[in-house]
Amino acid sequence: MSETLTGQALLHSPTFNRGSAFAEADRARLGLEGMLPPVADTLETQIARVHLQLETLDNDLQKYLLLSDLQARNETLYYAVLQSDPATFMPLVYTPTVGEACQKFDHVLRASRGMYLPITAKGRLKSILANWPQKDVRFIVVTDGERILGLGDLGVNGMGIPVGKLALYTVCAGVPPELTLPITLDVGTNNPLYLDDPLYLGLRQNRVRGAEYDAFIEEFVTAITELYPKCCLQWEDFANINAVPILERYKDRTCTYNDDIQGTAAVAVAGIYGALRISKEKLTDQTFLFLGGGSAATGIAELISEAMVLEGLTIEEGHARNWLFDINGLMVKSRTDLADFQKPFAHDHAACTSFVEAIEQIKPTAIIGVSTVPKLFNQAVIEAMSRINARPVIFPYSNPTSRSECTAEEAYKWSAGQAIFASGSPFQPVTLGDKTFVPGQGNNVYIFPAMGMAVLATQATRVTQDMFIVAAQAVAELVTQEDLDKGLIYPPQNDIRKASLHVAARIAERIYDKGLARVPRPDDIAAHIEAMAYQPAYPKV
Ligand code: NAD
Repeated sequence: MSETLTGQALLHSPTFNRGSAFAEADRARLGLEGMLPPVADTLETQIARVHLQLETLDNDLQKYLLLSDLQARNETLYYAVLQSDPATFMPLVYTPTVGEACQKFDHVLRASRGMYLPITAKGRLKSILANWPQKDVRFIVVTDGERILGLGDLGVNGMGIPVGKLALYTVCAGVPPELTLPITLDVGTNNPLYLDDPLYLGLRQNRVRGAEYDAFIEEFVTAITELYPKCCLQWEDFANINAVPILERYKDRTCTYNDDIQGTAAVAVAGIYGALRISKEKLTDQTFLFLGGGSAATGIAELISEAMVLEGLTIEEGHARNWLFDINGLMVKSRTDLADFQKPFAHDHAACTSFVEAIEQIKPTAIIGVSTVPKLFNQAVIEAMSRINARPVIFPYSNPTSRSECTAEEAYKWSAGQAIFASGSPFQPVTLGDKTFVPGQGNNVYIFPAMGMAVLATQATRVTQDMFIVAAQAVAELVTQEDLDKGLIYPPQNDIRKASLHVAARIAERIYDKGLARVPRPDDIAAHIEAMAYQPAYPKV
């Protein structure tokens, strides 16, 4: 409740402002008479007006900006609009539109949001963070802007990512916005476009690397844990060279995770559980062959191996069922060019540089494309998979659509309708003869908002790998028989709120079971989470 805000100050508070929805009696009490058009709106009328304003714009970046302005002016209305149709609004406040918004961030900037911590302020991070008005921050998304989506180094222009991602935490799973904080660490940029742009808003220097960078991250994590001991820290869009070591360094020290690594792996594993519901096979009987051996491939392969451990295998037996094939061919023990994180998946086998031959030799039940190279799941590949398997699992996960290893139509056509298909980017339904197939999209949004809400509700001390496996299982449980009959192995995205709350409750159960919660276990975890979830309604004034 805002006890002090009245008049203009109230109209300028995004938390307490109701705009035209202030009732007549409130206007008199709060010094607002004459400051607003005479008619007092309902929230529903205000939502309809924003819809109308958006319809007049034919450019997604303009729609993004209209919504950002609304967020800066009236947060309740902003979330009410997003929640009125999440499937339409998520692509406007996050990918793909946020990509263009970040690229042009220094040109289109309006109100500032979140916190910026430049490396020139090292030694003072705690006192700077203490400027944030909310003293009980529970959830932070932080980036250093080096690998924004597939767009590369955008420096401080990457701030659109933590801001947009946190909006999805709220819309999808009800993480209360007042408990969240978007942060950009400015360690410079190597992007000449920004270094030369007079409007660029970040440090005009190349990226700091090595010990100085590590010390800055260390100071940041220490400041956060001291100021906000109940806070979860989510790393977002760091380059691999930093993302992997940062996660390794802090995952057992504080409550933290990296969605690019762990959320991505979980959504792929959710797709595998969904596919197994169609083929009615066991996870431990599967063999996976990845096209690509980078961070996505190894992250997914590791989580699959850990999921196999939960079903009775050793981790080595799990690794043995996951094979990687990269630009230099099949990863086998004799290769000398492998990084440490790839070695668990390099097995005793003859060298092989043809993907089709690798399929013939290894006989995988599933192929997962994370190579960034389009069209490599060609007709020969899909036909080979279809000869070996009654229901071949084909997951071209490279993004965006132009990089997909194959299209949905190609997978269904070349497998004579037998492929169990999901992709990283969305594809339209495909009709073959009298059957229509609905391809699923492995979108992290099934996982990360739920993870955030579960951590928040339980005040978890850590985020562990098995919490991601539980999340994957919970996503797969939501797929109905009707969805499976259409080939759809992920739940439809239009019911994302219901799905996220279900997944959050399942993760929370695991947190309590493992003794990682800092609050007592409620009798009904799902009801407790539902009651905690933010609903856009005007706060009392
Ligand atoms: P990366 O650059 O770390 O790895 C790419 C890998 O592909 C490397 O191992 C490289 O050797 C291999 N490769 C390149 N050309 C090849 C070729 N011609 N034949 C065989 N292998 C080849 O990239 P990453 O971070 O692992 O991401 C890979 C892709 O996965 C991206 O397109 C990303 O968008 C996608 N991805 C999708 C999701 C999702 O849908 N949820 C999640 C994560 C990543």
